[in-house]
Amino acid sequence: MRCAILADIHSNLEALSTVLKDIEDKGGVDEVWCLGDIVGYGPEPAGCIKLLREHNPVCVAGNHDFGAVGKLELTLFNPVAAQACSWTAEKLSPEDLKYLEELPMTVQKDDFLLAHGSPASPLLEYVASNSIAEKNFSYFEGLYCLVGHTHVPLAYKQEENKIASISLSSGIGLVLRNSRIIINPGAVGQPRDGDPRASYAIYDSEGSLFRVYRVEYDVRATQDKMMEAGLPVPLVTRLEVGR
Ligand code: ZN
Repeated sequence: MRCAILADIHSNLEALSTVLKDIEDKGGVDEVWCLGDIVGYGPEPAGCIKLLREHNPVCVAGNHDFGAVGKLELTLFNPVAAQACSWTAEKLSPEDLKYLEELPMTVQKDDFLLAHGSPASPLLEYVASNSIAEKNFSYFEGLYCLVGHTHVPLAYKQEENKIASISLSSGIGLVLRNSRIIINPGAVGQPRDGDPRASYAIYDSEGSLFRVYRVEYDVRATQDKMMEAGLPVPLVTRLEVGR
């Protein structure tokens, strides 16, 4: 089985549609898994929910998804993120709001636990260091865990006496061989590793191969829509630098 793993779409429809096209060009997948933050920051929340749902995704909630529907207090967000959350809430239909509201915090899919932040704190914690990763290995039981939230593609592997971090370059495959591992596929809609290209992954259970891909999308088109919507300028400019 092949599945696409998408995280942190953040209302960036230009990035999402380019990624979905890229997946088709690579032969398609059987399932789409989404690690949360479909909305927030970007200009097209409803368009992203609609397009994603056409692919019948297995999806968990992100902090921005719950922020937009009032399930997470906006005081937990920085001011520009909170502003974008309120803007997002106004753009969503009752059906969209209901969809986000009902997203589960975690989902177990085959050997993988799906969470937005971390297994220990699915909405808020960033798995952004070896020590945080190490703690989190005791919060899930299976072999593998998929997370988003940091917007940086990176894997943490549990070895005998230490945690090894593995950077995930575009197109380089990581073979999952029964070692416990926490993997972040990077962000579709707002990368933060200095590379502005959209990031996502495809996992092929035959060969247990996990591969991150980076694809160029029309950053300028997203930025124009954000300016037109009056979204905070720092959110607009960060897209072109990928920070
Ligand atoms: Zn995010």
